[in-house]
Amino acid sequence: MLSLRHIVPALIAVALSAVSALGAPLVAIDPGHGGADSGAVGALPVGSVTGLTPRADQFGSPQIFEKDVNLDIAQRLNGFLVARGFPTLMTRNTDNAGGDVPYTTEGADLKARTDLANARGAALFVSIHQNSAPGAASGTETYVHTTAGAAPRALAAAIHQALVARLMLTDRGLKDANFYVLRNSAMPAVLVEGAFISNPTDALMLANPDVREAMAEGIGQGILAYSGMIDAGAVQQPVASKVQLVRAGASATKRAGINPRHGDLWVATVVDQAGAVMVGVPLVARLPNGKGVQVSTRADGKALLAVPRRRGRLRVSVAVPGLKVTATGDVPARIG
Ligand SMILES: [Zn+2]
Repeated sequence: MLSLRHIVPALIAVALSAVSALGAPLVAIDPGHGGADSGAVGALPVGSVTGLTPRADQFGSPQIFEKDVNLDIAQRLNGFLVARGFPTLMTRNTDNAGGDVPYTTEGADLKARTDLANARGAALFVSIHQNSAPGAASGTETYVHTTAGAAPRALAAAIHQALVARLMLTDRGLKDANFYVLRNSAMPAVLVEGAFISNPTDALMLANPDVREAMAEGIGQGILAYSGMIDAGAVQQPVASKVQLVRAGASATKRAGINPRHGDLWVATVVDQAGAVMVGVPLVARLPNGKGVQVSTRADGKALLAVPRRRGRLRVSVAVPGLKVTATGDVPARIG
């Protein structure tokens, strides 16, 4: 039996300092390739764990696909920006072509991406790619269109600077190119080549989720720097400022399909600096042993966590990726 009288729901909200997005623009995030177009392919050592869809060549040797890396970084960047009040638009959210439709041709894929951003009136377009070249090329490049004006060049410079600072790879500089997505975006557009997936050392880096997180944060910090520059004085946007973590009761736990002998349901909510619940902010939840806890987010902004019990204790930490917003819930036993 579980007696609620003995349990104090742990509610710990940690305030924090976070950069405010001023008059945050709609950012189109474009994860390059997808579906039948894998993008560049890198080789990984046997036994590599990427946290991405496992890929292997015909001999079973692990590989890493550019399309998977790009989507993972894009989703992390999306979380980074949403947590800071930016409206965003993903040109694909799944392993498909632009617009999340099955891949047919490169032309149709690229057109769907810029059409989406142009139709929604995105203010910025950021395309995420990884580079490929014969030999041992390594490092970071950021592209604008050959005829780009001051605004896209400023955006590219801000992103490139932040990205090089975060990744600490070779700075291969800002470059011009006539890429389709740069040519056909109606707004300032940049294309990032984060690292060389063709280079075994860079590929191994890209296999590490922490490096992909750093790449997303670098791009995000560049967008913040650029947006502050062009939108100073505009209305302050919501920024995630607290996570509230509450342990649900036994009946809610049972309704969630969890056996109360083995665990409990917790509910996490992210609120902004004005105390309003934010929807769509990604959360990461872990047990004290570092193991991840599945988080399912509802449309009302509540995130449900199924937290297993370890030797009578219930304990979980949640965090907003890229922001120093965390909460830890700890219910000492008195259960049973
Ligand atoms: Zn690419």
